[in-house]
Amino acid sequence: MKLQISSGDRQFLLATAAATPDEEVCGLLLGRSGRVETLVPARNVARDSARSFEIDPATLLAAHRTARGEGRQVIGHWHSHPNGRREPSARDAGRASENGQIWLIIAGGDIAAWVPQATGPGPATFQPIAIEVA
Ligand SMILES: [Zn+2]
Repeated sequence: MKLQISSGDRQFLLATAAATPDEEVCGLLLGRSGRVETLVPARNVARDSARSFEIDPATLLAAHRTARGEGRQVIGHWHSHPNGRREPSARDAGRASENGQIWLIIAGGDIAAWVPQATGPGPATFQPIAIEVA
């Protein structure tokens, strides 16, 4: 499994994260079978937005509706880590479910992609997936 993203979209994510260095920025990935076609920025409505994120539910709903109407899917979401760590945080693991959604994390001037794996009770583990910039 890999994730394809255009270099323009990758640059957009890096610039968005760099413009808000003290808060996690977030949004959705629309596309088809492992290819990002559209980035949908969302407001981070988490109370502690410096260390966590919560995508604005209105944006989430609208994105699902748009995707469905166009025969596409919400294939995952992105968020930034101001602390520079590209690995999912303990908080991320506590919220992840094995639903095939891609977690794209922007940190330290680069991006990384992850997919939650099946686990027993307790926090999820994440499998890294390769990113192909094309
Ligand atoms: Zn995180």
